[in-house]
Amino acid sequence: MDRAMRLQELRRQLARYNREYYDQGAPTIPDVAYDGLFRELEQLEAELQNFDDQSPTQRVGSLEVAERRSVRLVSHRQPLLSLSNGYDETDVIDFDRRVRQALAPETPSYCCELKFDGLAVNLLYHRGRWVQGATRGDGETGEDVTANLQTVVDIPRNLTTEFCPEWLEVRGEVLMYKDDFAHLNERMRRLGEKTFVNPRNAAAGALRQLDPAETARRPLRFLAYGVGAVEGGANLPKTQSGWLGWLAEQGFPVSPAWGTATRVEGLLHYFETRREQRALLPFEVDGVVYKVDDVAQQLQIGFVTRAPRFALAHKFPAEEALTVLRAIEIQVGRTGVLTPVALLEPVFVGGVTVSRATLHNEGEIHRKDLREGDTVWVRRAGDVIPEVVAVVRERRPEGASPFLLPSFCPVCHGSVEREEGEAISRCTAGVRCRAQRQQALLHFAGRKAMNIEGIGDKLVESLLDKDLVHEPADLYRLSVEQWATLPRMAQKSASNLVQALERSKHTTLGRFLFALGIRQVGERTAQDLAGHFASVEALTAASEDQLLQVPEVGPVVARALRTYFAEEANRRMIDHLLAVGITWPPIQQPLVQAGTLAGKTFVLTGTLQRFGRDEARSWIERVGGRVTGSVSGTTDYLVVGDKPGGKVEEANRLGVTVLNEVAWWNLITKEVSDGQESS
Ligand code: NAD
Repeated sequence: MDRAMRLQELRRQLARYNREYYDQGAPTIPDVAYDGLFRELEQLEAELQNFDDQSPTQRVGSLEVAERRSVRLVSHRQPLLSLSNGYDETDVIDFDRRVRQALAPETPSYCCELKFDGLAVNLLYHRGRWVQGATRGDGETGEDVTANLQTVVDIPRNLTTEFCPEWLEVRGEVLMYKDDFAHLNERMRRLGEKTFVNPRNAAAGALRQLDPAETARRPLRFLAYGVGAVEGGANLPKTQSGWLGWLAEQGFPVSPAWGTATRVEGLLHYFETRREQRALLPFEVDGVVYKVDDVAQQLQIGFVTRAPRFALAHKFPAEEALTVLRAIEIQVGRTGVLTPVALLEPVFVGGVTVSRATLHNEGEIHRKDLREGDTVWVRRAGDVIPEVVAVVRERRPEGASPFLLPSFCPVCHGSVEREEGEAISRCTAGVRCRAQRQQALLHFAGRKAMNIEGIGDKLVESLLDKDLVHEPADLYRLSVEQWATLPRMAQKSASNLVQALERSKHTTLGRFLFALGIRQVGERTAQDLAGHFASVEALTAASEDQLLQVPEVGPVVARALRTYFAEEANRRMIDHLLAVGITWPPIQQPLVQAGTLAGKTFVLTGTLQRFGRDEARSWIERVGGRVTGSVSGTTDYLVVGDKPGGKVEEANRLGVTVLNEVAWWNLITKEVSDGQESS
């Protein structure tokens, strides 16, 4: 395509995306892609010297829907512009260079701020009284949303200074806090209504409600970031940072996270620290903004049509992206729960490549109306697991049919049941289902259970393929030669594995019970049960009432335990495990109350190899000791695992005895056996 045609095509495309984004609140391409096209258009216009004041590169936002909706339009006293964007270090260096050239021989100081991801609004104050609120619109003219903004309690109704400007425009962003957004979506979900993709869209929807009562139900907040027209008044600031302070004094919410810098390094440092803290903020930000601080210098540098030349928005990497939902796969978990998982065309989002995302359950898929082949929005914010948030209906392929959860287990073809009132469906085949068997074995071998080094997904799959293992005890019955027949398993690794299995035989009762994978019995409960019953036999024989005497065990857990032990196959599986030689140090309760460790204070730091934190704590408590969180003069022992923090230094300084895991465990076992001899 020749370049002039490409230019026209880009203008058409971007105008459409603007309508979708600003007017309909339903973008169909990700911001990064939009920004790429925008840049391409800017470059083509410059190369071909083809300028047009109707081009998207010259316009701010869009007002088409407002015109159609016949809402009242109001003119801003001073245009409310957009910002030029930067994405990397080079963009920031270029920006700083342009600023320095424009100011030479003077030099700039910059005000650095968060870029709030909401909607720009202009609040007009007349002689100190708030009289009007409007959206940005096309930059010159916005929609009058005063009635809706009245529901935003953050907005000061009156200024406090006695030197009020005659007219003052306060600029800021209306947004929804992350928590409020989550609650709103929860409410929409309960009402069976469509949920919002992100807080920004939710805020946009709330602000444009025709009924202010509905806006009031969707909690909006306001954050001020500057001023527009300032007419009259006295004692007013002369810098952007000064204005931020002034606005805060007048009662406007202003983010305290602003700073100043004089050099590019300072700007980049600000960017980095804010990016790291992004997930911790209560509201969404999509970057930071650098502004020349001195207002006189700002005016000297001036504006391009749609943005000031003295400011730059430095964007964070996108947390949302579009991709194709290739298929919905059903995973069968350890307890038979069927979980639909989205298999996605791999997409880079929130700093990682995402190709799968859980869809939770069938109801969730229907609510979002997800179908195989759909184009979907994927979101990964902070460290939160990636989520498919919405579908782009316009791009649905013809013939895509609604998703149906199979009525048979996709792995074993056993029947599926859905418990009343539960959102989840389960395969009822138990360990006869290969998927459940596989998960049960993985759980059994897991770090917090029997901790068998070297047993992972692939290996368990091969074991089942070769039909070598039917129950956990079989793992211990395989010879080195048998292990060595598995794919990717050399003689050496086979013998390492057998050694690891041997080591794992010496465990604790708590770990053993946890490893059985009894429904409702987590790590902590398993330890409590071990401490209370002290033997498998006593636990197996315990009645529901006896089980209920264990702190933390309620009726649901007690019933799950009874159901488990009533099953003969389960009891046999346990016998087989004991027969292959799994043992643990005997427990008597209370183990030792008057031993040498009674009353001693322990602190744990770093990751222990063999014991979970809770488990280590319960051993210490059983010998009469106690565990505290920080090292002090009254600490007796610091137990150190991998990657300890500064506590070791502190302990050394205070002369506290420092033990590694082995030394600590020797101490405990000695105490236990002494206690047993004397009892
Ligand atoms: P913008 O959101 O990138 O930046 C300008 C706005 O930032 C200002 O109007 C202001 O409201 C806000 N802002 C937040 N904090 C601020 C602060 N501290 N100081 C100053 N301003 C602050 O600009 P825009 O013109 O609204 O939107 C352009 C961007 O929107 C594009 O870069 C693109 O990423 C996205 N967009 C996407 C699509 C799409 O289809 N995906 C379409 C249109 C626009």
